[in-house]
Amino acid sequence: MPEDMIFPGDEIASIEECEAGNNAFDDGDMVRAAAIGKKELDQESRIVSINHPKLLSIPKVGDIIIGKVAAVMSSMIAVSIDYINGKPTTSKVECVCGTRDLRIRNVALVNDIVTLKILNHLNGTIHAAINERSLGVLFTKCRKCGGTVVPMRDALKCVDCAWIDERKLSSNFGNGDFVKLRG
Ligand SMILES: [Zn+2]
Repeated sequence: MPEDMIFPGDEIASIEECEAGNNAFDDGDMVRAAAIGKKELDQESRIVSINHPKLLSIPKVGDIIIGKVAAVMSSMIAVSIDYINGKPTTSKVECVCGTRDLRIRNVALVNDIVTLKILNHLNGTIHAAINERSLGVLFTKCRKCGGTVVPMRDALKCVDCAWIDERKLSSNFGNGDFVKLRG
């Protein structure tokens, strides 16, 4: 947090000096901040406001996210979040998702698009689940040749090289328009 960051309730001016503007209120004595942000004083009007920073979009427990797999480890994947409950986010927050219990060879590959449900926040890490029917891979490619894959019973088959593979597929797999899948 920058040092000049103001917190809700902080005194930002006296009411003799200034009037309360955006994200500010006067308590009859002082003008105080009603939000986190930076103090902004309009010299002419003598209106003091708090300029609210663009907040990081942190998903809440139970939110449905869509993101791109950033890393695949032996027992978990890391996902860079692009959508929270169908709304785009640019803050590039990551979550992790355990994959050990799934007994699937390749739950997801790097750069796959997946949809997950947020489970909890633990020690600064956001944990998500993939084990519900609607959760899992929305878009993937052939691991061998990068070709298009189509579902075949519980597996995936590449239409180019015929490689058969597994993923934890979402029940919405193959529905290309991810953004319409609002949580
Ligand atoms: Zn292939």
